[in-house]
Amino acid sequence: MINIGSHLSISKGYAHAANTAVKINGNTFQYFSRNPRGGSVKALNESDVEDFKRIVKENNFAPILCHAPYTYNLCSSNPNTREFAKRSIKQDLERLELLPCKLFNIHPGSHTGQGIEKGIELIVEILNDAITEDITSFVLLESMSGKGTEVGSKFIELKEIIDRVKYKEKMGVCLDTCHIFSAGYDIVNNLDEVIDEFDEIVGLDRLKAVHLNDSMNPFASNKDRHAGIGEGEIGLEALINFITHPKLKHLPFLLETPYDVEGHKREIDLIKEIIGEKNDK
Ligand code: FE
Ligand code: FE
Ligand code: ZN
Repeated sequence: MINIGSHLSISKGYAHAANTAVKINGNTFQYFSRNPRGGSVKALNESDVEDFKRIVKENNFAPILCHAPYTYNLCSSNPNTREFAKRSIKQDLERLELLPCKLFNIHPGSHTGQGIEKGIELIVEILNDAITEDITSFVLLESMSGKGTEVGSKFIELKEIIDRVKYKEKMGVCLDTCHIFSAGYDIVNNLDEVIDEFDEIVGLDRLKAVHLNDSMNPFASNKDRHAGIGEGEIGLEALINFITHPKLKHLPFLLETPYDVEGHKREIDLIKEIIGEKNDK
């Protein structure tokens, strides 16, 4: 069975988001740890958390992803920006200890002109501060498209970061199909080679989740615009090959396509129909 879901809002609570995931024929979802603009967080509502746990258990959810907001930049040249990221990541990870969600996804960051090496150094500094022995979550670095001064568009950069994290057993990777395609990994024509390359450099055991998106921009464009499944430059066939690949098919796949909940349901149903999984709802 494929593990699939989409990016959902938790503005009406965690339980509401989990129920929505089930309604759209998913068994996982992704949410922002806090407002995408990165404001403060509401206190946890105990009954909401209890409901959330129950729904996850009853429906046998695959791993759920908590995504850090885009406003965290771990390798900005501005120390205040880095301090904000550091403090927020610590809070987010503490909160995850209370939730049935063990994957925390972050964008490595943008070095804002300081260069990749300096960027990696600053990212590692924050991760080593935020990831302590008692954290039970995996911190996933998302593979990026390489727009602007983004760090993490090459597998080797992700590996360099992971290698320098003290508790590296808590580190993982989330591959975004739109990002790797636009970063120059040809998942349309050479999927096996891309997977082998990832395995050699990072290790497939580090791969914990996939962001499932098509790309509005062409191969190796270093642009980051998500398209609906089958509506972009990657195409439906290549995306289906990705989901059903024997080395990937066990992973949670999260849609971040530019659609609302109804649109995500249509995409999930389309994918399940193609790969021959019947829905009972
Ligand atoms: Fe992301
Ligand atoms: Fe993504
Ligand atoms: Zn993106």
